[in-house]
Formats: sequence, structure tokens, C-alpha cells
Amino acid sequence: MTARTKIVAGNWKMNKTVAEAVSLVEELTKELAGFSGCEVILCPPFTALTSVAKLLHSSPRIQLGAQNLHPALQGAFTGEISAAMLREAGCRFVIVGHSERRRYFGETDAFLREKLLAAVAAGLRPIFCVGEELPDRESGRWPAHLRSQIQGVLHGLPVDVLSAIVLAYEPIWAIGTGRNARPEQAQEAHALLRKEIERLHGTAVAARMCIQYGGSVTPQNARELLSQPDVDGLLVGGASLNARSFTSILLSV
Ligand code: PGA
Repeated sequence: MTARTKIVAGNWKMNKTVAEAVSLVEELTKELAGFSGCEVILCPPFTALTSVAKLLHSSPRIQLGAQNLHPALQGAFTGEISAAMLREAGCRFVIVGHSERRRYFGETDAFLREKLLAAVAAGLRPIFCVGEELPDRESGRWPAHLRSQIQGVLHGLPVDVLSAIVLAYEPIWAIGTGRNARPEQAQEAHALLRKEIERLHGTAVAARMCIQYGGSVTPQNARELLSQPDVDGLLVGGASLNARSFTSILLSV
């Protein structure tokens, strides 16, 4: 079996002023000095990126990510941020296709595909999110839903783009609800996603791909989720906003 480096990311969503972000990162870097259990990514809001980047200079194991990008190189897209701007701000990663972007901002498969291409062309690694709604879970349609999200966005993408992607399985019913997927549910979905990647892009790409789980991850459930063979990391929302809870999640890797 291919040994995959575990990657744990904190998605701060629309939380933390610059001052709050700085104080959280100061605490985290102190608590995580010498930590080498996995790769760590922090995804603050755009306004805090450069301040956080400065603080991370001396912490090579903690990398910076953004929560979104626009696929155009530049131009008349009021309110948007390009991949090159994110790179300049110090980002190495960017979240693409989070269910909140799909739901509240109408992001389609075709648009997400453009974002993945733009991110990788600029040297960013996308954290590409997929996941089903509760009715799809309860009716047993979730495998078809996940397959169609993978096919709709990743079909036919060049191998360098695929190899740069971190995939995140985030069941929508688990996000911010306090109801995480059970470890065996996560494992089943991750194995299906890996199979689907294998079908589209071959065994080597699939075996190397890091697949994170996201949705109500806490210090209490992190270890058991990570113990599943196809769970290669975590995408943490609420519990990443506090140094103590995020650190204890990281220490369970
Ligand atoms: P949560 O969010 O950990 O607060 O459920 C996860 C996410 O949306 O990435």
C-alpha cells in the first residue's frame, strides 16, 4: 500500500479579524513547535492571509491556504481574487467546491473545473470538496451522487492537475451539525471515491491521492476517523477556530 502523508486543514470560513487570526496563529505555532505528525494547513479569510503568512515563515510544517479563488487571470470581476494573488500572499493551497460555495454562490461543476485548472497553473494545490445531502444519504443515492460530482469535475483533467489535488469528502449533513459521519461511513465513501479516481485516472494517481474527511470533526472523533485506511486527513471547520481543539485534533494523527 502507498504511504500517504496525512494532511489536516483548518477552514476558518468567515471568522477571525486580522487581530484574532494573529493571536490564534501565535498560539498554534507555540503549541505546535516541533510537531511533525502531519502536514497542517490554515485557511483564514482573505484579509488575514498576509499577516498569517508572515507568522508562518518560521513554521515550515504549517502552510497557508485560501478558501476560494476566481479562475480568471485578472480583470473585471469585482470582489474576486485570482490564483496569482493568492500565491503572492503566500498560499500553497486553496479550497475549491466547498458545499457552501456550491449552495450559496451557485458554483457549478464547469466553473469548479476552471478553478482547479487555474489554481494548479499558478502553483496552488486545490482541496477539492465533494459530498452528499442528507436525503441522498438516507435514500442510498449517495454513491451515485459522489460519482457524478467526481466525473462532472475531474473527468479528462491532465494528470498534473489530478496529482496536485487533495480530495475532501464532506457530507453536507455533517457540516456544522455536530453529527459526523461514523468512521465506517467515511471509509466506505473514501474507498468509493478512490475507486472512482482509479477508474478515471488509473491506479497510481488514485493510490497517491490524499482524501480528507470533513464534517463535525472534533478532538473526540478525529483519531477514529483517521484510523480508517482511506481517510488520509481532515478538513476541520468549527474546531479549527480554537488553538486547543485544533492542536488536540492534530496530536491525534
Ligand atoms: P465543520 O466544517 O468542521 O464545522 O463541520 C467543516 C467544513 O465545512 O469544512
